[in-house]
Amino acid sequence: MLVLLGPVAAGKGTQAAHAARNHGLLHLSTGDLFRRAMREGSPLGEVAQGYMQRGELVPDEITVRMVGEALAGSAASPGVVFDGFPRTLEQAQALDELLAGQGTAIDRAILIEVPEEVLVERVAGRWVCPECGTPYHATDDPPREAGVCDRDGTTLVQRDDDKPEVFRARLREQLPPMYDVATYYDERGLLSRVDGRHSIGAVTAAITEAIDDIDPSGNTLVRDE
Ligand code: AMP
Repeated sequence: MLVLLGPVAAGKGTQAAHAARNHGLLHLSTGDLFRRAMREGSPLGEVAQGYMQRGELVPDEITVRMVGEALAGSAASPGVVFDGFPRTLEQAQALDELLAGQGTAIDRAILIEVPEEVLVERVAGRWVCPECGTPYHATDDPPREAGVCDRDGTTLVQRDDDKPEVFRARLREQLPPMYDVATYYDERGLLSRVDGRHSIGAVTAAITEAIDDIDPSGNTLVRDE
């Protein structure tokens, strides 16, 4: 069980997708779950929409309930990489309780660190598939055909909440609780820090190295030293 932490546009989504593929994990992104709920016009989507458009966090109670339902539906999966969750101390504590109820626990939290000015630059090039949620970047991680999703051929879009004024609001609101969550895992000896300024491949390699002593599908590896 892995948690990927980092500011907006640190590359969490891309790295979580790689970690899921490389380690056979379920990729659970709360941002993607909220966006899907919005597309489907469900009651959850209607509630989440206002918060997301303002660049605010969706209240913990709603977010935790959604994650609990997603986890309950994924009992067959060997492990999970959490992307964009937990984002507050309350969510981190609730996640521990949810996992304890399933007889499992977080093995490692990875903090992807990127300076603010680099983030602002990156956001300008971000595109996402509105259908499957796959993230792309115009220069760092382009799709095979410009403007089109590699997976399902859908025309890519820029997210409303990547607009500069919303983006800055998201950073202002989301960084302090993110550091609280990082401290929570650090105090439990579970936090690894990775420099997110490097290429996607280099960050993936750093994450792989940071988790080489655990089995993120659930069981801590016992190593013969
Ligand atoms: P993301 O795609 O992870 O950047 O999330 C997009 C938006 O969804 C955020 O700006 C929040 O409004 C909402 N969101 C995603 N994950 C969470 C979470 N764990 N807690 C509260 N709100 C969230």
